[in-house]
Amino acid sequence: MSEPDSQAESQEQIVVVLPDGSELEVDAGATVEDCAYEIGPGLGRDTVAGKLDGDLVAKEAPAYDGAALEIITEGSDESLRVMRHSAAHCLAQAVERHYDDPKLAIGPPTDDGFYYDFDGLDIDESDLEAIEAEMEEIIEEDYEIEREEVSIEDAEQRLADEPYKLELLSELAAEGEQVTFYSQGEWEDLCAGPHVESTGEIGAVKLLEIAGAYWRGDEDNTMQTRIYGTAFEDESDLEDYLNRLEEAEERDHRKIGNEMDLFSIQDVTGPGLPLYHPPGKTVLRELESFVEELNEDAGYDYVETPHVFKTDLWHRSGHYENYEDDMFIFDVGDDEFGLKPMNCPGHAAIFQDHSWSYRDMPVRYAENGKVYRKEQRGELSGLSRVWAFTIDDGHLFVKPQGIEHEVETIINMITDVLETFDLEFEMALATRPEKSVGSDEIWEKAESQLRSVLEKRNLEYDVEEGDGAFYGPKIDFAFEDAIGRNWDGPTVQLDFNMPERFDLSYVGEDNEEHRPVMIHRALYGSYERFFMMLIEHYEGNFPFWLAPEQIRVLPISDSNLGYAHRVANEFEEFRVEVDNRDSTLERKIRASHDDRVPYQIIVGDNEEDDGTISVRDRFEDQEYDVEIDAFRAHLEAERDEKRPEPDFLEE
Ligand SMILES: [Zn+2]
Ligand SMILES: [Zn+2]
Repeated sequence: MSEPDSQAESQEQIVVVLPDGSELEVDAGATVEDCAYEIGPGLGRDTVAGKLDGDLVAKEAPAYDGAALEIITEGSDESLRVMRHSAAHCLAQAVERHYDDPKLAIGPPTDDGFYYDFDGLDIDESDLEAIEAEMEEIIEEDYEIEREEVSIEDAEQRLADEPYKLELLSELAAEGEQVTFYSQGEWEDLCAGPHVESTGEIGAVKLLEIAGAYWRGDEDNTMQTRIYGTAFEDESDLEDYLNRLEEAEERDHRKIGNEMDLFSIQDVTGPGLPLYHPPGKTVLRELESFVEELNEDAGYDYVETPHVFKTDLWHRSGHYENYEDDMFIFDVGDDEFGLKPMNCPGHAAIFQDHSWSYRDMPVRYAENGKVYRKEQRGELSGLSRVWAFTIDDGHLFVKPQGIEHEVETIINMITDVLETFDLEFEMALATRPEKSVGSDEIWEKAESQLRSVLEKRNLEYDVEEGDGAFYGPKIDFAFEDAIGRNWDGPTVQLDFNMPERFDLSYVGEDNEEHRPVMIHRALYGSYERFFMMLIEHYEGNFPFWLAPEQIRVLPISDSNLGYAHRVANEFEEFRVEVDNRDSTLERKIRASHDDRVPYQIIVGDNEEDDGTISVRDRFEDQEYDVEIDAFRAHLEAERDEKRPEPDFLEE
């Protein structure tokens, strides 16, 4: 440990705060690793990296006075990230061994792996195998990974051939006089780290795909070649991940959406702007009417607001100042307008147009409101990242003491929705952050009401201290789909800010004006994301009530076509089609299966003579001589029940 002279004289001590809240006193200049050894030699040896005030840093990084220190040890999620970052370096080293002078851009770890971006690298996926083999070689060679602090001038010389690194360096130069390099064997990189100690500590690696990526995500910049890969501690973890990836690909909503004709996103109509085809809109309408029922039961009134507002509204709501870069803004004559990125200001404006008494409270507005957010083009993907999407939005205006009751109802509605789709969920309460608006009194009152709802319903929840929005605390839901992937779910968000900005009020029992609290809530969130998740969750095999085509009647031969239509009429309350193609029964069954129709009704001479039907479900179980009335009654129950009753034929 080298200490600058000024500190050496005074032998200054600093204090860091450990995760359990206890304080540790160490010499000024002590590194993260020194602190770990101070706590215990075992911990010191296991230290991979650290976190200082939440930022991941190398174990060689010096701690500073007052920092919240967390030690990252082997086997944690964070240490996996560190290892993947080292794998990204191996990738770049392998590429530079194989190809002439590609320029290095950036190479960070991601949630599932890592990537590295290169300029001037002309390869395709068939080249990945050789690069991967070279990476394995580098891992085998077990180079020590060395960290070095370098002055800006030295760094400039070492990066003279790397224009992108020089660009990054010029930004770092504004922050300090030293940067760090990490080297392994003949290769080095400008990098803040942290990394594992040697390339031999990198586990099982796999390169996955090549994509184009704009330098710094900006489409005005050069398009570079991005190589994606992943790394795990061992082969079996990697194997599990690759299996999950394969399963996810089979369920990809873009693939299934195309097969089932649910939606399209076309060049001619614009990026991130989904078009729903009739089968897709059928599913959406069912989803819409499901929440409409829940909203009506809970006393919501539907409102409707336009897609565009004058920007005066966005100034008042604060969106213009905080959200301008994500908004589509344009002039009409002398006025400036913006497509709405959120529905709340419109609802606040409706509330403001009345005078309210405490007797009217709470006021609950609902709208399936289309919103527009200008995401980076390169980030747009299927229905998961779009420019235009619809929120099943709801805004409530409540008395401060009425929060608990309303939030309880909302939580009931959300759990109703998630349970309907068999989604396991977790909840978290996010509390007041350091910077916030609103009095201590209102925050305390609001947070204690949120806690009380969660406790009363005996719900397990995490508390995320300080993670609330600046304008109010919230409850977040996260859920898990059929293949174990986690998704951000609905939110119940309290808001003390917008009522101020819109000067909203009601007259209380004391005849004084009072400020209501606003609650933002959505049950699905965005229809687009929820729809996408459902497509993948069910692999397109929607429960009966959601299926775009619920029943297909298959005549065994053309002579049964008349009876097939009479049977279809008996089921006209459902979405039923007759397959009248001139084709074999086997082919008709296959087609119906491919179209993911939950039930096939098969009719031939026997059925026609008896006035019955044969029923086949999507699990390929078949039952003969079924009474039409009995099957209709079953379907009605299955539709109204909504929960996916697996199987009529297994009952
Ligand atoms: Zn790096
Ligand atoms: Zn809102």
